[in-house]
Amino acid sequence: MDDDAQKNWFAKNIDDLQKELKTDIELGLAEDEVKERLDEFGENKLDDIKKESTLKKIIKQFHDIIIYVLIAATIITFLIEHYIDSAVIGMVVIVNALIGYFQESKAQKALDSIRNMLSVEATVERDGSRVEIDAKQLVRGDVVYLFPGDRVPADIRIVDADNLKVEESALTGESDSVEKQVGALPDDTVLADRINMAFSGTSVTSGTGVGVVVETGNHTEIGKINEQMTEVKEMETPLTKQTAEFGKNITIAVVLIAIAFFVFAYFFRDYEIGELFLSVIAMVVGSIPEGLPAIMSMILAIGVQKMAKRNAIVKSLPSVETLGSVSIINSDKTGTLTKNEMTVKTVITPNQTYSITGEGYAPEGEIQSETKEKDPLLEKFLLATKTANESELFQDENGRWNITGEPTDGCFITLAEKTDLSLPETEEIDKIPFDSSYKYMATLASGEEGRMIYIKGAPGEIFDMLHGNNEFDRNFWEQQMEQMAKHGQRVIAVAYKKVSDQMEDLTHDDVKKDIEFLGLAGIIDPPREEAIQSVKAAQTAGVQVKMITGDHPSTAVAIGKKIGILKNDKAITGKEIDQMSDDELAEVIEDYAVFARTSPANKLRIVKALQKNGEVTSMTGDGVNDAPALKKADIGVAMGIKGTEVSKDASNMILTDDNFSTIVDAIEEGRRVYDNVKKTILFLLPTSAAEGFIVMASILLGISMPLSPVQLLWINMVTAVTISFAFVYEPAEKDVMVRKPREKGSQLLSKYYVFRIFYVAAIVAGTGLIVNTIMVDNGFDHAVANTVTLNIVVFGKMFYLFNVRNEHGFALNKSFFTNKVAFIVCGILIGLQLAITYAPFMHTVFATAPLEFGLWFIPIALGLVVFIVVEMEKYLNRRFFSKH
Ligand code: ATP
Repeated sequence: MDDDAQKNWFAKNIDDLQKELKTDIELGLAEDEVKERLDEFGENKLDDIKKESTLKKIIKQFHDIIIYVLIAATIITFLIEHYIDSAVIGMVVIVNALIGYFQESKAQKALDSIRNMLSVEATVERDGSRVEIDAKQLVRGDVVYLFPGDRVPADIRIVDADNLKVEESALTGESDSVEKQVGALPDDTVLADRINMAFSGTSVTSGTGVGVVVETGNHTEIGKINEQMTEVKEMETPLTKQTAEFGKNITIAVVLIAIAFFVFAYFFRDYEIGELFLSVIAMVVGSIPEGLPAIMSMILAIGVQKMAKRNAIVKSLPSVETLGSVSIINSDKTGTLTKNEMTVKTVITPNQTYSITGEGYAPEGEIQSETKEKDPLLEKFLLATKTANESELFQDENGRWNITGEPTDGCFITLAEKTDLSLPETEEIDKIPFDSSYKYMATLASGEEGRMIYIKGAPGEIFDMLHGNNEFDRNFWEQQMEQMAKHGQRVIAVAYKKVSDQMEDLTHDDVKKDIEFLGLAGIIDPPREEAIQSVKAAQTAGVQVKMITGDHPSTAVAIGKKIGILKNDKAITGKEIDQMSDDELAEVIEDYAVFARTSPANKLRIVKALQKNGEVTSMTGDGVNDAPALKKADIGVAMGIKGTEVSKDASNMILTDDNFSTIVDAIEEGRRVYDNVKKTILFLLPTSAAEGFIVMASILLGISMPLSPVQLLWINMVTAVTISFAFVYEPAEKDVMVRKPREKGSQLLSKYYVFRIFYVAAIVAGTGLIVNTIMVDNGFDHAVANTVTLNIVVFGKMFYLFNVRNEHGFALNKSFFTNKVAFIVCGILIGLQLAITYAPFMHTVFATAPLEFGLWFIPIALGLVVFIVVEMEKYLNRRFFSKH
């Protein structure tokens, strides 16, 4: 095998292809061969886009106006020979950069680990059997199966195609699908015309196919362009942007105020110019919440990681935020709200009614009838449902019976095993696979009685095909179907058609006439128990749940009631939706919780109508056709297990367990994360403002600064390394899923929060200043008074942290001890305060002095005052004004 020369694979015939790639399209490669090829040519993946080096990332942290100001201050203080100040300011710069770097890389790591979870699977033939593998393990010569919704995992030469259509916009920009063929093409065929090739990164829109891998990794066409396909994008979110913008505005305002104060103090007060300059700088540094955006990204990213642990892979940070405000969950029924473990319970042929015993896929049970009369149609029925089928029954290593493929197919294989009749063998010649847009499947097969088409599908569709068949009494069968559906059974109609022995290809037109009816099957699919709980939880949280299903309205209503979505018998069908205009649909949509007989196209209109009504909408989907609705939804949710790659690409979130409950869990996590971001802001702003107030007030009052510049910088530094981390790990508040969803576009900082910021800042700054003045007046040394003030500010911050931890209730409650990190960081902070108060070298650097024991009561008592005042204000506010 030639390793690096790019070959004209499209120009080769299949025999040459097999020879050159040393493979066999029937058996695939042998595992040993695969190992050798993997060792030789490497994995099938694109090189990572060059990552930023650590140094570059650290340097980036210095690119910030506030840091420029600080660097300028370091240089100026050095020049005026204030070496200690210069060193401390320099330290602040470095510590800030390191914290920023640490937070950013932690966020990046969290996102990278998510990216690794987004691996693409490929179905290959190896050693003669069909297996699913991680697409990275593909090598040249591998035989790959392609199904609708698959992402083509490597460059593949097609060797078999059944209506195979591939959308290649990732490569060519052309969004119309291209129909693929098998025959060799001329040597000079250009890329866009190579219709016997499927290229890595493109996606199968319909049909099925088989191909041989001819290029992998960077050698693929997409690899040559080197574009990453699956990427966790966007570190920025509306929230971080809003805060970054907000932070910038504060910076500008603070700098302007600082300049004004500097000028004022220079002319009207007699501070030493060096100290004044430093105080103003310290005020700027202290008042600006420079760490805010980084800590927010970290909270969001760690949130993403937590969600992944709860089976929800969120692909970008903005979605974490949006999740918190979701007001409607639109969910597929089968497999998400129900178990997707189908069992046929009833069969009705035109001759007899049968009930089937046994549950699940184990072929244990009987097909029982009321009479013992022989029914030739039963045998035909069983043969039809076994043949128009893409599933296989097997026992896993633990002896449990399971199926491959669709449960709606699998349950018929189990059914066929439950009969005593011996069903004849058939050979499949062609097929129309099942698709929810036309809702049936058909197989052309040859058997004992020649060639037949076997069809199974939704009753409405099959009944339409039977139009013109005089023996078929549609009214009667509709009633039968209705009866089954009312019991929550999923109903499948079965038919067949005898065709000529020359027939080779099957098209939709072939099943539209002259078919014979064989009967109905009623299938049960029990609801997931946890889904029932989660529907209730969502409803309590003010989130409506809507069920979208391809099933019959009566089946859907019965299941909707069981799950608790529906209180009445109201369901709307896809057909009814089709007949409505967008405005009409938006008007009535809020009245319906169950959408039946829907097609994927209906989903898009449902999303649009809900969004028109101002709802923040989540929508689930798994098929190729669901992609537009998933993209349009505020939160598109794809199924990790049964979802196609295309649907995963189009979505914001992937459920690794396909479970409805996971969506509700993710919403809860989204609300928690949003709360914590908000709490961080609500914590950082007042405490930063307090530092600014102290400097401003002393300048205005013309008193000596109660905190020296380096002391202010110390406060800034130690609180940045400690308590600002507390909210990353803050658990959800008790009422997180009792509240209504956050309103769309609601302001991050309401007037109430601005009020809170000011009064908390005023208490901390005011008490600090007053105590300082009283102490100095009473003969205490400046150093001692300042050390007390320093501790007042830090303890004020620490106590206030506990106010903010619980915004919606009393701070002292059962969950007080749930956030260990909050206590650890407070412990560290107290340690640091003891160090600055008692360590001799700290005295030299920070001009602090040891405190006698009794003086500690002042900061602790005043911290308590902050705590009690805020708790009282929160209580009054809850009681009399709003929901805060
Ligand atoms: P959802 O997953 O959105 O809840 P669904 O799985 O119930 O929807 P579809 O898969 O679109 O809906 O199925 C619609 C109807 O098509 C079913 O009610 C059933 O009558 C029929 N049907 C489903 N799967 C098959 C199949 N494999 N073979 C034949 N008919 C099928």
